[in-house]
Amino acid sequence: MAHTVEILSVGTELLLGNIANTDAQMLSQGLSALGLNVYWHTVVGDNPQRAKEAVELARKRADIIITTGGLGPTCDDLTKNVLAEAFGKKLVYDEESLERIKAYGKATGRPLTENNFQQALVPEGCTVLTNDWGSAPGCAFEADGVHVIMLPGPPSECTPMFRYRVVPYLQALSEGVIASHTLKLFGIGESAMEAQLRDQMNAMANPTLAPYAKEGECELRVTAKAPTMEEAQALLLPKVEELKAHFGPLVYGVDVPSLEFVVENLLREKGLTIGTAESCTGGLMAKRFTDVSGASQVFKGGIVSYTNEVKHHVLGVP
Ligand code: ATP
Repeated sequence: MAHTVEILSVGTELLLGNIANTDAQMLSQGLSALGLNVYWHTVVGDNPQRAKEAVELARKRADIIITTGGLGPTCDDLTKNVLAEAFGKKLVYDEESLERIKAYGKATGRPLTENNFQQALVPEGCTVLTNDWGSAPGCAFEADGVHVIMLPGPPSECTPMFRYRVVPYLQALSEGVIASHTLKLFGIGESAMEAQLRDQMNAMANPTLAPYAKEGECELRVTAKAPTMEEAQALLLPKVEELKAHFGPLVYGVDVPSLEFVVENLLREKGLTIGTAESCTGGLMAKRFTDVSGASQVFKGGIVSYTNEVKHHVLGVP
């Protein structure tokens, strides 16, 4: 069965609009790359009753609930209490987390109070997700057919926790492996691209095909699930070749980070260098070229020639 995921972000700051829910965005990107269906994003404030209502709704419609935020030491950090209560689990101290919190206090020289130690409380029988990027551990458990995963709110903790703790946990849940390849296209809009693929997209089950609109370009992601990586690749590679042949030169790369990365590699291969003279783009091309590491081997420099005077005197434009 395909898993359905709900991301439940806890934090009044999110509801007030003080911060954007970048954790949910990051998680959605990572989860869809794993082939999981994220069907709901919910945000709830630091209010136990409303958080409980949100959990009750989520457990009815999703079989994986991932929470962000509310794991810290203050009294408005309520996530663990609410989730543990909803799933009938006691909170118990995790010895290793207690030791880590003590060590963290020692290393930072900050005095620790009782509420710091509360961060080491976890639902009984859960898998503790060690937090090497902050003090509050995450945790994961399964109850009543629902997997619950709790992550800290700060993006500097949530992002590595997802990558290094949650991805392996989720991969262990799914039988087999999920692999994908991304084709990058330039020179066609998302709707035109999708129109050409709609029939086969609807008919495809494994691999699946998903189109994405990006800034000035499009992506097509092909994802396959199979018992082994070799079998997944055997499903993926013929489809990738077929799509490359279909879209021809509109495909500028597969699994490449950016258009400028591809251009610089081509220049390097051909032993060429490039310089830019830009007007209305205000140096945008130079910026994109220099964002690629090792750019100085191929990018000589650029001039932002905004006024006629500079175009004439510096660039020699008649
Ligand atoms: P801490 O241990 O730091 O208290 P926590 O898990 O309790 O972590 P919160 O107290 O809910 O997290 O949030 C801490 C900070 O993390 C917030 O002030 C905010 O800057 C950031 N944050 C929280 N949730 C999100 C989110 N969904 N997206 C982006 N940033 C977030």
